[in-house]
Order: sequence, then C-alpha cells, then structure tokens
Amino acid sequence: MNIFQTVKESVTARQVAEQYGFKVNRNGMVCCPFHNDRHPSMKVDKGFCCFACGAKGDVITFAADLFHLSPLEAAKKLAEDFQIPVTQETHRKQSRSKNKEIRKRTLYQTEKKVEQLERECACTLSDYLHLLEEWKVRYTPQSPDDEWADEFAEACQRKELINYYLDILLYGELQDRIEFLLDKGEEVEQIEKRMGEYRRKNEDKAGGSIG
Ligand SMILES: [Zn+2]
Repeated sequence: MNIFQTVKESVTARQVAEQYGFKVNRNGMVCCPFHNDRHPSMKVDKGFCCFACGAKGDVITFAADLFHLSPLEAAKKLAEDFQIPVTQETHRKQSRSKNKEIRKRTLYQTEKKVEQLERECACTLSDYLHLLEEWKVRYTPQSPDDEWADEFAEACQRKELINYYLDILLYGELQDRIEFLLDKGEEVEQIEKRMGEYRRKNEDKAGGSIG
C-alpha cells in the first residue's frame, strides 16, 4: 500500500474536518471552506461533497485544498497529524521483502551451482573409486616378496577415504557439502588429472604392445 491508500484507509474526511476545527452537525454537514458558506452545505463522510459550490473529493483532496498543498504533501501532513504509520513503515516493509526475494534468489543460484559442482565431484570420485577397485585386483602382489605396484598401494591407501568423500557429497547436509567443495575441490581436480595420466599411460602401453 502506498501512502495515499494507507491514509485514505486510516482516516475519513469527517475525522479530518473535526480535527481541524470544523463543527460537524448531526447530519454530518459542515460549513464549506471552499466558498463563502453561512449554513453547512458540505457533507463530510469518508470523502466530502459540497452541495452549494460542488467541491468534492477524498480525504487527501480535502486536506490539499484546505492547506493549499500537493496531494503528496497533504497525505504526509495527514499521516503526521493523525500519527498514521505510513511512508517509513511501508518502505521498510517493501525493502525487507525485496531483500528477502534477492536473498532467496541468490541462495537458489548458489544451491544450483553447488549441485552442479557436487555432481562433477561425485562423478570424478566414483570413477576414481572404480579405478582403485580395479587396481586392487589387477595389481595384487602375486607373492609376499613381490614389490607393491604404485597403483596397488594407492588403492589400499585411498579407497576408504574416497568412500568417505562420496558419503559426504551424496548424503551430507548442504553446509557440509559446501565446505567439502571449498576444502577438497583442488584435491578432486588432482584426482581427475591423476586418472587422465593413468589412462594416457595405459593407452600408450596398449598402443605399444599392438605396434
Ligand atoms: Zn462549497
């Protein structure tokens, strides 16, 4: 609601006339201030209407004409004189709800971004986990004396950890997931690189064995 609506709903022309010293008779009539009126010929109610000179309008027009003010100035004066909580309250409410709207939108965008990052991270991690499982089988030492392949050691060391990371990403609270992305984002990138290197190396090997 703007100041005009608020004032119009809070106070009637009759109340205003009384407040500003007009004598309202039993019929709700006052002497018209807009022409030389000796007998009350203006009806004041929610608005006002003079049966003699034809002046009429709402409570704001009444105050505006009476004090020679613009409608906005008249509305402000009425709000002040009748202690109607308008401008500031209305503005504050509007900016509050606007801020809320912006916050909601920002949060939504953040969530979308977080979700996308999560999906990418989860993809990388689950690829990596599969690879580790594969390594654990493929590079198992054949005898106790065999030296461990790097891949086998890596699989033993990191399987638990990667499982734990995936748990956070898939089942964690939003706050935990965001913290994970902030803390471990780089680590996940390193894993992505590591897998790329391994795959390239293996393709080279495969190519070499064919050629
Ligand atoms: Zn009149």
